[in-house]
Amino acid sequence: MSEQIAPATLEQYAAQGHAQLAARAAQLQRVRQRKFDTLAVHGLYGAEAALANAGSINEPIILSSAQHFENSDHMEATITGQVPGWAYTRIANPTIGYLEETLALLEGYGYAGEVSALATASGMAAIFMATNPFLSLDLNRSSNGTLLAARPNIVATPRCYGGTFHLFTERYAQERGIEVRWVSDPDSLEAWAACIDANTRFLYGEMPSNPTLDVLDLAALAELAHTYYLPLIVDSTVATPALLRPLCHGADIVVHSVSKSMTISGMAIAGAVIARHNLPSRVGPDALRENFIQYIKYLPFRDYGPALSPFSAMLIMNDLRSLRSRMDSLSCNAMQVAQFLAQHPAIEHVYYPGIASHAGHALAQHYLLLADSSDNDGAPVNRYGHLLSFSLRGGMPAARAVLDRFGLIWRATDLGRIKSIATIPAISTHQQQGEDGRKMAGIPAGMIRLNVGGEHPADVIADLDQALG
Ligand SMILES: *Cc1c(COP(=O)(O)O)cnc(C)c1O
Repeated sequence: MSEQIAPATLEQYAAQGHAQLAARAAQLQRVRQRKFDTLAVHGLYGAEAALANAGSINEPIILSSAQHFENSDHMEATITGQVPGWAYTRIANPTIGYLEETLALLEGYGYAGEVSALATASGMAAIFMATNPFLSLDLNRSSNGTLLAARPNIVATPRCYGGTFHLFTERYAQERGIEVRWVSDPDSLEAWAACIDANTRFLYGEMPSNPTLDVLDLAALAELAHTYYLPLIVDSTVATPALLRPLCHGADIVVHSVSKSMTISGMAIAGAVIARHNLPSRVGPDALRENFIQYIKYLPFRDYGPALSPFSAMLIMNDLRSLRSRMDSLSCNAMQVAQFLAQHPAIEHVYYPGIASHAGHALAQHYLLLADSSDNDGAPVNRYGHLLSFSLRGGMPAARAVLDRFGLIWRATDLGRIKSIATIPAISTHQQQGEDGRKMAGIPAGMIRLNVGGEHPADVIADLDQALG
């Protein structure tokens, strides 16, 4: 058993590594021909990898914090990226790597160019990692030698997740002086364009938005961003890649709270940054533009350290395998619930992109399509996700009374679950941003956000009916 591995030289390792990387690129090329469900089920984990892991047909969970190397040459070749490896779990890990490959395949489905993914410890960590690299100070020296810094600004929709609103206003604007330009009317391309100037670093959208389910014209926004050589960053947590893949519509970077519908069981907190290669940016080194994910993974992400646990990565992969069929059936449940609510006299407004009264319905029909699906006439199939909101005529007191009467539906600040869950954004997820912030985001006090789960819709409707009555 104590057979010595013949020590190879750095050059030999590099040659071997080169061949391994080429084989992986060829495998990726082949795998990318597969359909969405196949990618979700298998990712890049095939027979060869399984045989190297005692034949395990599931990806192995490597909980080890570090990788052992054959010798110093192997160590050096791996650390310098000449040989595939992972070294240390804060930076990379085989189990997390399988998840990242699956995420890149799903988000890049239907997109012709190269796509890479980075898994993070939470959705907020993903949003931070996706935005912070663009916010470096551009230092110049004035004629008398003092340092001058132009004040960077970011242009974003105020109709976004409460945590994102807080990150931008408190951490970026208050603490660092970055100017956050909230677009007054995110449905107007002119309103976005009017916010952009020489110090703008990126455009930021969320689609559909949490909790108002706003829909953006992604292709038009991407075109606008690219006119100014700026990246468009999109949070598409609520849609998941089963319904929307912003990269296909011109977006440059996609962020996800993987904690939500992607991990439907609710057993892990995680995030993801997924980006196409060769994206536009007025700031940062060439490496940032060439391969944003590789750049952040080996530099800022390594330094800030918001790494995912390999154990969580396994739970997430397990849930991801059935993503498309779940988004299909849960969307159908949510549609039935939305239709029930739309005709109920106690309801003021239903926020669901699938119903005709929603302001973004036409755009939603264009953008929110179930992957690999067609109806009897061969037309693509619209599915609108399983998150919806509704406001009550009686305002906050009515919303509290209804929430308190739920018997089946859980009261929790969560979404993307197989169990139906409701909250009042004004006192929970969007409480921190205050009344002015909520007004800007279009969130009334009497709004209930409802995540429609996998129960039979008749039971969810019955619970809503008794709570509203
Ligand atoms: C929950 C959520 C986030 C934050 O994700 P965490 O995993 O909770 O950090 C970001 N964006 C959206 C749309 C969300 O719903």
